[in-house]
Amino acid sequence: MALEPYIAEVREIINTRASKQGFSSEGLSEVIPGCFPPCMSTTIADVQANVNLSHTMRFGMTSFLLNIGMTTERVTEIFKASPDFKEHATSYQITHINGASGITYTCPACATMVTNGNCPGKALCKKIENPLVYYRRKVWVENKKRVVQKQI
Ligand code: SF4
Repeated sequence: MALEPYIAEVREIINTRASKQGFSSEGLSEVIPGCFPPCMSTTIADVQANVNLSHTMRFGMTSFLLNIGMTTERVTEIFKASPDFKEHATSYQITHINGASGITYTCPACATMVTNGNCPGKALCKKIENPLVYYRRKVWVENKKRVVQKQI
């Protein structure tokens, strides 16, 4: 599959950063990079390749990662490779998106992502309305597979 290299890269980035930061395996098991939708896999790979993201994509990626349970510290860590990274400002924005001002933001809908030029794979995500829905469905399938494997 065309996205496999991106997924492997994202998985490695998260695992590497997690081990550097001493994150618990419990936290890691909650985030499954292999289940990320194409928009998020490619965006995280872009950040790691020092590509400057648009503001709308920064917001999309941050809100997505926070909504699937990633900590603000881990999201900040991912942004560190960004050419214009400023720890204090990034941390402030992530905390804001995570509800510090009283509003917890959710990930933009696919229609908004398409309008903003942040969707690389509408053809791959038939009938998906939000990247979070893509992720939750994939996690559900993944968990089902694990249960079946345990039973074998
Ligand atoms: S259709 Fe939605 S989930 Fe799929 S790549 Fe586009 S924005 Fe992401």
